[in-house]
This record gives sequence, C-alpha cells and structure tokens, in this order.
Amino acid sequence: MFKSSSILALLLFIFASFTPVKKSRTLLAILAHPDDEMAVASMLVKYAKTYKVYLVIATDGRYGARFHYKPGDELAVIRQKESACGCKNLGIEPPVFLGFHDGMGMATSVPEFFKQTAQLTEKLKQKIEELNPDVIITFGPDGDTGHSDHRHIGAITTEIILREGWVKKYPLYYVSWLQKDSDKLKAAIGQGLNTVHSNYFNVQVKFSEEEENKELAALDCYTSQLTAEEINQWKEMEKKDLTNTLHFRRLAVRNKKKSDL
Ligand SMILES: [Zn+2]
Repeated sequence: MFKSSSILALLLFIFASFTPVKKSRTLLAILAHPDDEMAVASMLVKYAKTYKVYLVIATDGRYGARFHYKPGDELAVIRQKESACGCKNLGIEPPVFLGFHDGMGMATSVPEFFKQTAQLTEKLKQKIEELNPDVIITFGPDGDTGHSDHRHIGAITTEIILREGWVKKYPLYYVSWLQKDSDKLKAAIGQGLNTVHSNYFNVQVKFSEEEENKELAALDCYTSQLTAEEINQWKEMEKKDLTNTLHFRRLAVRNKKKSDL
C-alpha cells in the first residue's frame, strides 16, 4: 500500500512534469533581416529554456536575392516564412516583422530612407515598450558582416535606448565577434566578420552541443539564402569548433558629470 503522502508527492511530480516552465524573464533580439537570427541561434536556443525569447526583424529581406530568386514581394514572403521556420526550430517565439524594405527605402530615394527610418524608430520604440524585455541584443557599430542594415538597426536601437533614458531599464548587449570568430568563418566560406577587441566583450555565453544541434537543424529552413553545400559547410564549421561560445558587449554610460573630457 502507498501512503497518501507518497501518492500526493507522485501526483505533484507528474503535474510538474507536464506544466511548462513559467518564463518570467524576456529576451528581445532586434536584428535587420529574416535570417540574421542564425548569427546568435545557439544562444537563443539556450535562453529559450528560461526566457521568453522574441525576435524583431526590421526588414522583409526583399532585396536579398540569390540564385533564381527575384527581388520583391514574393521573395519577402518566402524569407519571412523561412525565418518563422527557423524560430520554430530554435524554440523561440514567432518572429515579429516590422516590414521595412532592406536599405530602409534608400533604393528608392534619400527622402524615402528618412521616412522609413523615422517610422522604424517609432515602431521599434513601441515594440520595446510592449514587450518590456529584461535584456535586448542587437548588432554593434561593426554591423556583424558590416552590412549597412545591420549597422543601421544597431544604431537605431541604441538611439532609442539613449534618447529615452533606458540604459538601465533595458540592458542592451551588442553581438561581439572576436578575431577568432572571424578567422573561423573566413576559413570556412572565405569571408570574415567585423570584430571587437577581446578587452571589450563583457559577457561570454557558453552553449551545449544539444543547443548547437538545434541551431544546425534550423539552418535547413533558409533555402533562399543558402545552398545545400553552404548549409553543410556551416554545419561542419560549427561542429569543428568545440569552444561553443558567443560574446556580447553591454552598452554602458557613465553619467557622473565632469567639467573636462
Ligand atoms: Zn543580415
């Protein structure tokens, strides 16, 4: 015979096993294109275990045409579906698309660029307030690959945080590639990344092989951007790298006033 306390303990155990973990903290990644999430995918997988992880993507990727794809509305729809597939595989919330064009209208005219940039800034500010994240990550001034949209989204996110006085309220972290990360990519695909001096990163996030495997499985979603061979090269590159570490740099502002520089 079971004691009633043992039965209660068993029932509690079963209940706990089937109750999803309540995620009270929120991480928000703010990036430029529908596939940029793959730059930090293993870290997103890791945080999704304890955080609600949201991804806001500024553009619809309509001009990122490779292979037989033509730039435009059709490609934008394909790329947004790819990103939704990627997020599902990573175990994070479905992506939030702000729907601006790559280059924020620069391909049309300079006035269109100013118009889209102003609209993006306002929409992004509202989204940050709505999601009220505990942590934000975005690209730094290096822009990851150096793509102008990457630099732009990092700068606009930073502008909002500084303008609104949100440096403490919404801790902002920049993705920070070290020289070894750039060398690794260059050896695999012939193109490196923009880097930050190793003195300046202040967070080092380790991820497990299981988390990396989820990243690698998500890669298969992005067939408008990567050939099967490129996907395999990416997978091999990550498997070879046993350090499984990503680096971030927190935006910090010293606000003690002085009378000289
Ligand atoms: Zn991109």
